[in-house]
Amino acid sequence: MRAVRSDGQTIRVVTDAPDPALNACEALVHPTRVLVTQADAGSRWAGVVGHQFVGVVKKLNIPADAPPLIAARKSFLNKRVVGSPQIVCTNCDMCRAGLPSHCRARRVMGLAARDGCFADLFSIPISNLVEVPQSLDDDRAVFAHLAASAVQACHMLRAASKSYITVVGDSALALLTAQVLARHNKTTRLLHARPDRSRLCERWGIKSRSIDEPGRRQDQDVVVECTGTAAGLRLALQFVRPRGVVLLKSPSAATPFPPGTPFASEPGQAWATGLDLTPAIVNEVQILGCRDSSIADGVGALVDLAPDVLPLITRRLKLDDAPAALAAARDDEHLAIMMDC
Ligand SMILES: [Zn+2]
Repeated sequence: MRAVRSDGQTIRVVTDAPDPALNACEALVHPTRVLVTQADAGSRWAGVVGHQFVGVVKKLNIPADAPPLIAARKSFLNKRVVGSPQIVCTNCDMCRAGLPSHCRARRVMGLAARDGCFADLFSIPISNLVEVPQSLDDDRAVFAHLAASAVQACHMLRAASKSYITVVGDSALALLTAQVLARHNKTTRLLHARPDRSRLCERWGIKSRSIDEPGRRQDQDVVVECTGTAAGLRLALQFVRPRGVVLLKSPSAATPFPPGTPFASEPGQAWATGLDLTPAIVNEVQILGCRDSSIADGVGALVDLAPDVLPLITRRLKLDDAPAALAAARDDEHLAIMMDC
């Protein structure tokens, strides 16, 4: 079997990988499209890489004593699915409290302690999967995980009631979050460092401005920080109004920005290091972490809000070109790189 493996440094395509083990209540999936974003490119995970996919279920392992919700999913065989990359234990206090996304023993496919989806076949818990509706083609469905992240910003903000919202960043996540928020609130604007992001915003009817333009008036109700850098948070604190909200969408360690870009962290520096948070205290700003909603919510957003995701694909390659795709994803010119499997 073909798989894209990392040893933590170097990416290579192997053709003699063993078929993945199929544990109880897991599915074997053949991906048809996978997505490479900066989180994949910055990962230090050693194993099969990749966490965003759309694919077809090839095999299911449903034991006789499986819970009814799993047993009901025997209909998933040969269906198109997307899935959450988060593998949870179901037993810890967070899982039992109904907060599995905060599982104490959480693993993430292709990023942390679990093989990913850049392979001819991969295994995933059946409970992680959602069937893709007919109306959503593979090129759009593969954005379900990114959409789930964008939607969580709406869930945490009650966006419709806010007067001014600014999204900071140049990434696919920033652009998708801006689109999703703009569906709920027309004041949403993107603050970017690249003129081509501005052209995309024009196409979508979303206001945008360059980070180089003057005027940081601390007048935004909400600033959604999508760069994962100290520079991005510093900007956010210059734009948010007193008692406003800064939403942090991007972890930094997994998404180091390339040196020389406007949002780059200083090399080796954790993103709050050296950052003066005095403005947050003086202005009583709420700083909130924000990750993902469910993969079902991501699919729902792609169908109901119909964000324009195809322009987020800046390059298309084959799975055999994975080393080139992962190298290219480090370049901030690229938003998302699609690989056909
Ligand atoms: Zn757990």
